[in-house]
Amino acid sequence: MTSESIVHSHEADEKHVDAMNWDELEFGVIPTDYMYIRICSDGENFSQGHLAPYRKIELSPFAGILNYGQGILEGLKAIRTKDGRIQLFRPEENALRMKMGAERLCVPCLSTEQFLAALKQAVLANKRCVPPPGKGSLYIRPLLMGSGAVLGIGPAPECTFLIFTSPIGNWYKCGPSMNLYVENEVPRATPGGTGAIKSITNYSPVFEAVNKAKAKGFTDVLFLDAATGKNVEEVSSCNVFIVKDNVILTPPTNGTILPGVTRKSIIEIALHLKYKVEERDVPLMDVLTADEVFCTGTAVGVTAVASVTLHDKRVEYRTGEKSISQKLRVMLTEIQTGVVEDKMGWTMQIR
Ligand SMILES: *Cc1c(COP(=O)(O)O)cnc(C)c1O
Repeated sequence: MTSESIVHSHEADEKHVDAMNWDELEFGVIPTDYMYIRICSDGENFSQGHLAPYRKIELSPFAGILNYGQGILEGLKAIRTKDGRIQLFRPEENALRMKMGAERLCVPCLSTEQFLAALKQAVLANKRCVPPPGKGSLYIRPLLMGSGAVLGIGPAPECTFLIFTSPIGNWYKCGPSMNLYVENEVPRATPGGTGAIKSITNYSPVFEAVNKAKAKGFTDVLFLDAATGKNVEEVSSCNVFIVKDNVILTPPTNGTILPGVTRKSIIEIALHLKYKVEERDVPLMDVLTADEVFCTGTAVGVTAVASVTLHDKRVEYRTGEKSISQKLRVMLTEIQTGVVEDKMGWTMQIR
């Protein structure tokens, strides 16, 4: 596949950023002007990357990603600060995480420097699609895939790295808290599986459980560990924390939990604020007796959990002004949006 054959014009009925009302942003598909493409056809070396107008891509029906799920995704945000700068949050963490996933799925991967340079190009090209300060952010989706045709089970002979973007609103605007439903039949991840990487294959297996929970009015599902079914692991696309007697607890990332960049940052911020933080197994029983529960992730930021429901038992938690999660959320957002000086060295300026 050449970089030319990857493209088709995009549909006239897709939302487009030209018609964008920044106040109505949600988390949906709004294609932006450009995407970034880089191809590796020899299993080792990537060609020179380039920007192209956003278009549909063309793949062989035999493509590794379509048949054998050989794909890794990433997700991060570009944020416009009040003084007009555009910044990313810890993008090198996404580069490293993609590399870990790529190793597991035998896809050649870009180096951190190449990944960061590509991000920079993609964001600059779509600069006008980064929402004004306070209105949201430009969600960036790097995708690395086995794009070559393959029939025998194994890695595709060619791989493609793409970056495409979509402006999104602040999750917080959609509702200040979540109501979670405990799923005790279907685990999200299993020991030895791919739960710790952002493999594309991790997401559709939870659709059914999440849809069922949503149909009952819940925001999302809280998954338990596959081995014992006794400990909480995470929500379908965000990590989970609990607060009990002012101690902050979150399960350790030892193979079945996605190591979130937000998770890692919240642990560091909490320690900085002198909270006691423990990464250890969190039994469901502890969740049911916790003072607070909250979730972290690029899309949700830090979002309080208002309730957790197990079967018919619903437990409610502290949220809002007096909550620790609110304190952590404010501090994280202030760094991400450039309201306070970034003493942690977490932000990367895009110029
Ligand atoms: C991406 C993701 C997260 C959150 O990671 P961040 O780097 O904080 O965005 C948590 N859990 C799952 C399953 C994810 O896919």
